[in-house]
Amino acid sequence: MTGNENPASETAGDVRQAQLRANLALVRDRLAAACAAAGRRADEVTLVAVTKTHPAADVIRLASLGVTEIGENRDQEASPKAAEVAAAGVKVRWHFVGQLQRNKCRSVVRYADLVHSVDGVRLAEALARATRTGRGRPLEVLVQVSLDAAPGRGGAIDGAGVDRDDDLAAVLAAVAAAPELDLRGLMAVAPLDWEPERAYASLAELAARVRADYPSANLLSAGMSGDVEQAISYGATHVRIGNALLGVRPTLM
Ligand SMILES: *Cc1c(COP(=O)(O)O)cnc(C)c1O
Repeated sequence: MTGNENPASETAGDVRQAQLRANLALVRDRLAAACAAAGRRADEVTLVAVTKTHPAADVIRLASLGVTEIGENRDQEASPKAAEVAAAGVKVRWHFVGQLQRNKCRSVVRYADLVHSVDGVRLAEALARATRTGRGRPLEVLVQVSLDAAPGRGGAIDGAGVDRDDDLAAVLAAVAAAPELDLRGLMAVAPLDWEPERAYASLAELAARVRADYPSANLLSAGMSGDVEQAISYGATHVRIGNALLGVRPTLM
């Protein structure tokens, strides 16, 4: 903000734009420092702004600041928001990062560019069917892995057993077998009660094994507002940032 503006003439939208610009500068500094510390180039890490609970107007503001990778976790919210942003003539890429129900696939494939959260064989099959009938071009997907095998929090499980819907090898094979889906890599959320180092070290090991079988699965979605540094040090290519960029979500206040 320049000094010669009359604060009284500022609209709430101007204030929000300035707040997002300031938050973005801090986040970009953190990402740059983490990349430098890890001996990685800054352009190896893509910032995905997780805008859940925040309005389409914030997505449009972020796009004007150069942030065009946008994450959402619920179709009910994301679908109208994506339509609103598109209607404003603003082009962004949508990342679906939340638990995905099979009956939402038909909606999600219409706007999502990258789905981070495929964690079941039947979900992969439903997504492939929805892509075939409702999209007209392949859909990029990441397979979400559960690092602690905790039930109910999402994620395929390494070594669960090939007869299980959430077996990691089976989910990877189902995605790779579907011509509609493009297997791009893995996603994980650090378990609540684990040190981020432990979580992301084990994710990095898993990712290396998966890449040996599927060389094009070279994206790694890991790291949120609280632990991007650790995620970047273990090879994250996509960090999913909500609160640090947009402020504390309204529902949590
Ligand atoms: C909300 C959310 C994020 C962002 O979390 P912050 O702590 O707000 O940065 C990242 N990933 C997923 C899957 C989310 O649901």
